[in-house]
This record gives sequence, structure tokens and C-alpha cells, in this order.
Amino acid sequence: MTMSKLLEINHCRKQFGSTEVLTDLSISVEEGQVLSIIGPSGSGKSTLLRCATLLETMDGGDLIYLGNYAARDVNGKAVYATPAELQKIRGMFGLVFQNFNLFPHYSVLKNVMEAPMLVQKRQEKEVREEAMALLEQMGLSDKADAYPYQLSGGQQQRVSIARALAMNPKILFFDEPTSALDPELTGEILKVIRKLAEKKMTMVIVTHEMSFARDVSDWVVFMNGGVIVEQGDPRDVIDNPTHERTIQFLRRLQ
Ligand code: ADP
Ligand code: MG
Repeated sequence: MTMSKLLEINHCRKQFGSTEVLTDLSISVEEGQVLSIIGPSGSGKSTLLRCATLLETMDGGDLIYLGNYAARDVNGKAVYATPAELQKIRGMFGLVFQNFNLFPHYSVLKNVMEAPMLVQKRQEKEVREEAMALLEQMGLSDKADAYPYQLSGGQQQRVSIARALAMNPKILFFDEPTSALDPELTGEILKVIRKLAEKKMTMVIVTHEMSFARDVSDWVVFMNGGVIVEQGDPRDVIDNPTHERTIQFLRRLQ
């Protein structure tokens, strides 16, 4: 089986003012792969995800989804595709945030249905059926008419995963999806993500949950100071790190 490269970021550079936050950073994700990004706070993990999902613009580098260039490096400067092309590319990925980011004034069902109807302009009946199936998959069938404030953090996060899946993305990004949850609810979310991995959903996950990252990932990237310090198989990077900075980081987490 040949695997196709779903996402490629080459030589990404990002500055905020005069501070360089990402320096010549490259990753690539194959279809069906789970890539985890670990690293200390402030190392640029969220910025990388925000660049990958077009919430931030890179200063330099390529951003490529399935051979489609969202941005192309021209003489060290990232040049972005047309709005129409970027819109097409936006449909290829979903993003799950740390703080759920649900619409507070919409019911659970409406939260899940909103983007497929508004952005993809799909038929209401079909979208509703799919949304209900996703809620069932997330164990939330009975919460369709509830509002976000009536749900636990874990339930809200499962709604936001259903909402991302409703767009039928080729790749899902998670930025510390369990950081706002207590340990019990964390387990609930990690279980959902593990199931998606079993179904060969392509995912890029920023996480501090090391045993989860070890189990679920095909590839682990350790970032520090806006660069990749070490990357590889989780058994290497997490269990047998070779760089002093990685060893130090993992030791502190224990
Ligand atoms: P991480 O997610 O690994 O904790 P971030 O990507 O959030 O790291 O942040 C990387 C660095 O970029 C930090 O020094 C942070 O202060 C800085 N940063 C992030 N977002 C902005 C912004 N919008 N404006 C200025 N600096 C920012
Ligand atoms: Mg972050």
C-alpha cells in the first residue's frame, strides 16, 4: 500500500514582531498517521497548529495539503494561495481546541450541524442524520437538545470533536484537548481519540499526556524554542530520548 502525504510543512518560519517563534520547522503527515507534538509551554506548539490551520500566516515556508499549496515559499517568504483555494483547503481539516469553543447559544445538535450547513451548504435532513450519528458515536445521543453550559467539560469536548468530524475532514488537529479537564474526564476524551486512531483517522495532537502519546502515535515530535529538537518513533523519543532537553522535559513531567 502506498501512503499519500496528507500534510507537509516545509521550513516554516513565524515571527511575532521581532521575536521568531518558529524557526525553519518542517513536519509531514501521511494518511492514517497520528503525529503527536510535545514540548514545554511557549515552545511554539500552538503557533505551529495555528499556522497549519490557517489561523496564523507563516512568514516563510510551504504549507501543503494533499499536494495543494496553501502557502509556497518564494525567496524565503510564504506566499499564500487565493481565497478560493484556501477555502477548499480549509475543508480538508478540522481543529479541536483546549477550551472547546462551542457556540454557547446553540444546542449541541446545532453546534454540530452549523458548519456543514453554512459552509458546505448541505441538505438539512442529511446533515441532521449525520450529526445524530456522530453524537451517538460520542455517547451523547441524549444531549442533542442540551446547551453547552448544561454539559460537563468532557461532554463539551466530545461535542467539539463531533463538530469537527461533521465536516468530514481528512485530518484532525487537537491542541491540548484535555488540558482543561480533570483526570477522569481526560480519560474519556483520550478514549474517543484512541478510537479515531483505530479507525485510521489522520491526526496531529499537541498533548502533555505522555503515556497516551506513546500508545497512540506513529511519530512524536519534541519541540523547544520554536525548533524540533528530536523526533521519531514514540518508543525512541518518549522512552529513550537522546537529547538533554528532551530528557529534562520528560523527567519534569513524571
Ligand atoms: P505553546 O503552545 O508551545 O505553549 P505558543 O505557540 O502558544 O507555545 O507560543 C510560542 C511563543 O509565541 C510564546 O513565546 C508566546 O508568548 C508567543 N506568542 C504566541 N502567540 C502570540 C501572539 N499572538 N503575539 C505575540 N506572541 C505570541
Ligand atoms: Mg499551546
